[in-house]
Amino acid sequence: MSTDAIAIEGLSKRYGEKTVVRALDLRVARGEIFGFLGPNGSGKSTTIKMLCGLVRPTGGRASVLGFDVVRQIASVRHAIGYMSQSFSLYGDLTVEENLEFYGRAYGLTPQRRRERKRETVELVGIGHFARARAATLSGGWKQRLALACALLHEPAVIFLDEPTAGIDPVARRDLWNLLFTLAERGVTLFVTTHYMDEAERCSRLAYIYDGELIAAGTEEELRRLPGVDPPDAARYSVAAEEIMPAYAAARRLGYVRDVTIFGRQLHVLVDAGVDPGRMRADLAAATQIGAVEHITPSLEDIFLTLTRGHGSR
Ligand code: ADP
Repeated sequence: MSTDAIAIEGLSKRYGEKTVVRALDLRVARGEIFGFLGPNGSGKSTTIKMLCGLVRPTGGRASVLGFDVVRQIASVRHAIGYMSQSFSLYGDLTVEENLEFYGRAYGLTPQRRRERKRETVELVGIGHFARARAATLSGGWKQRLALACALLHEPAVIFLDEPTAGIDPVARRDLWNLLFTLAERGVTLFVTTHYMDEAERCSRLAYIYDGELIAAGTEEELRRLPGVDPPDAARYSVAAEEIMPAYAAARRLGYVRDVTIFGRQLHVLVDAGVDPGRMRADLAAATQIGAVEHITPSLEDIFLTLTRGHGSR
């Protein structure tokens, strides 16, 4: 039997004339926290829905824990949990009643429901809100309740489609701590996110663009991809009081290959051998410049480079 939690071969989805997922190949090992990244509309949700048996592929195949997502849909649904931003909580039901509803929907026996409700409430720490109506919870607590509901039947693989979109930074961190707890227990997590700090917490990553898999691997493997960290160039961060004039000045320099703004810093890719002191002086002629430091590409640098290298269709 395959040891992969998820195995995807040539998986495709076409809506009418439009192909939104193109011949995807991917493997996810058991116990991984796998980050699935890409811009809006690149096909992440569609891929997840195919893996959960909610959308039928138009090509290729995929299996979750060895179960085919088309031919063994019932087994797949039994083995997985699925949580999206629009996870259906019933606002007029209490936390406890929502869990009861999902426990019944998953066909758990009354005794099992009691046990699992207690365990999941404890895991996500929502006990003190047990009698609160779901509609009255904050975004972060709603997502924790949604996670508890998705975990009731003890799935071995969980798909989380932007689980932290729109929740505050503390709630985001708390939710990630929960995900780590699950991973420690051997659960496989397949997560989409737009947050790079969350991507950094994943054991492996895949990047999809316009339905096509651009790259997959650990952060270190992605960094070594051709073009990401070219041997004939160096990358620096440049702090600037006023970022726009610094950006404009950097773009005018002949030895600068690429410039990206990250908050109050620029990431600048320059020809190898350029003295950072010279760059600092050149930029300082235009605006006030802070520290200039040599850096390795961040995940955001990596994905921007991969996207640009790919071009738009
Ligand atoms: P992501 O999750 O990366 O934002 P999606 O998988 O939601 O991307 O969407 C990928 C593309 O597929 C988008 O162009 C979207 O408009 C299209 N799409 C998704 N669902 C449908 C559908 N049911 N019918 C037609 N087009 C769809």
